[in-house]
Amino acid sequence: MPSATVRVRVPAKINLHLGVGDLRDDGYHELVTIFQAVSLYDELSLTPADELSVVTRGAPGVPEGAANLAGRAVLLLAEHAGRHPGVRVEISKQIPVAGGMAGGSADAAAALLGCAHLWHLDLPRSTLVALAAELGSDVPFALTGGTAIGTGRGEQIAPVLTRHQWHWVLAIAGDGLSTPAVFGELDRLREQSPGPRVGPVEDVLAALARPDAAALGEALGNDMQAAAISLQPSLRRVLYAGTAEGALHCLVSGSGPTVAMLCADADHAADVAARVAGLGVCRTVRVVNGPVPGARVLGA
Ligand code: ATP
Repeated sequence: MPSATVRVRVPAKINLHLGVGDLRDDGYHELVTIFQAVSLYDELSLTPADELSVVTRGAPGVPEGAANLAGRAVLLLAEHAGRHPGVRVEISKQIPVAGGMAGGSADAAAALLGCAHLWHLDLPRSTLVALAAELGSDVPFALTGGTAIGTGRGEQIAPVLTRHQWHWVLAIAGDGLSTPAVFGELDRLREQSPGPRVGPVEDVLAALARPDAAALGEALGNDMQAAAISLQPSLRRVLYAGTAEGALHCLVSGSGPTVAMLCADADHAADVAARVAGLGVCRTVRVVNGPVPGARVLGA
């Protein structure tokens, strides 16, 4: 008999550009961002059960059950489809928690896709994406993957052309950073002094399309980086280490504290990773490439 368990793999994201507008009256910031999905994955298994449960392996402290973003996704889809949310979700986490790589959002996207498969719902893609946007700004991108430009709160996405595979070293910190805390720190710093802002997003798009790694390195930028460094000053050493060990450019991904180091090719990335790992400036390093596709049902 075929197994009733559905397995889904979902990638982490990095931000190649993150322009943060001023605080809006509704408490959100207007964003312009370029996401890239990279080859670092969480894997979820979803099995029919009497009631909803969510457990996580490899990441102590992540909430369980309906408090987990994957649990919220199951409940939302169940309500939308008029189904009983009886599913056991097991998450095997590789994406760092509170690392600025949208791991929780990735799990929510994977849970949406996995439940739609488990329940044989023939939903249009646009419905899944709309439900994803209800769950969080980064969730629609985790469904689609690739490279994309995000506007609004980051949830309105459009694909970006790049035929090239890009190579990155990720320096993953021991402690996470809370995204709302980093936005709060950014607002506080901007009140003190306006500070510089990221360059035009068009420079990143042009470098991706050519493709030109050196130009991409120069165009990368993140308005949240200064705030992340202000809250976690040890990030300066990580950024310095990546550049000193030969990466083309280093930047904090999203709200941090993961640092993404752009490399020229796979060999260069392996070399930079070994050197940075030897310095002991971060908990672990990973070599990844992107873009990769978004959430996928395995064996489907
Ligand atoms: P982003 O880049 O989207 O701002 P992040 O990668 O910095 O997010 P996450 O790993 O998504 O941060 O987690 C943020 C918080 O969300 C965690 O501290 C955790 O308590 C909570 N959370 C809920 N569900 C999950 C999940 N499935 N995986 C990770 N964290 C989760």
